[in-house]
Amino acid sequence: MAEVVEEVRCSNCGAALTFKPGEIIVTCGYCGFTVVVTTHKAFVLEHSMIVNKRDELEVEKDLRAWMGSGFLKPKDLAKRAKIVEKELQYLPIWIVPISASTRYKGIFERITPPIVKEGGIDKSYNWLVLGRKVSKFPTREYQVPIEGKIPFDFRQIDKNAKVLNSELSEGEVIAEAKQEVDAHHKFLVSQDVDRLIEFKTDCSLGNAIYVHAPIWFMVYEYNKNHYYVILDGATGQVIKGDIPPAGFGPF
Ligand SMILES: [Zn+2]
Repeated sequence: MAEVVEEVRCSNCGAALTFKPGEIIVTCGYCGFTVVVTTHKAFVLEHSMIVNKRDELEVEKDLRAWMGSGFLKPKDLAKRAKIVEKELQYLPIWIVPISASTRYKGIFERITPPIVKEGGIDKSYNWLVLGRKVSKFPTREYQVPIEGKIPFDFRQIDKNAKVLNSELSEGEVIAEAKQEVDAHHKFLVSQDVDRLIEFKTDCSLGNAIYVHAPIWFMVYEYNKNHYYVILDGATGQVIKGDIPPAGFGPF
């Protein structure tokens, strides 16, 4: 039996929507309209974007400035590294406002005799969840420059940039945010008690925001090896970068 390939058209401008299997929330490449392809309904949450502020030359400068700073890098890194790849991607990032209240009880075993401790953690977060299932992007090390967000406008997307769609639905994103906050609080509690007897986290959620953020994925070559760098296109800051071993190079 032949497989039926469903054609999905943008309900705003009528253009064919292109997306990959697994992508759920798709933004039209022609008009910027965003649709939930599984239900064919318009996306109703806030869809924002952060504008990219760097061009290819500027990110190269940013990267070389980073290479020349700090103590851990080889001294000649900024001079000798060759930048071999620069790609701007707009990543689909969800921001979930979440207030989490944890109550716990556990045994503190670092003294003799051990004692029972009880406590609570009450914290509010704007928790980030990346809308992609497989990615090396370090959400915990990234702060969305949220002051700069504007309503999503496809005309502000750089011509050569890739806009990635979300593979997660709003429900999946919320479940993931709750689970990660719970795990984070469990980690915080583990500093205070060694063995948990009771642990419960209640979460209250605000409206999630869907943001496309400009991220540069770069590769440089140094001593014949390749290293990866992820850079924030709004601020020019390196979010995460591989550093070659300093080794026995010239000092
Ligand atoms: Zn459209």
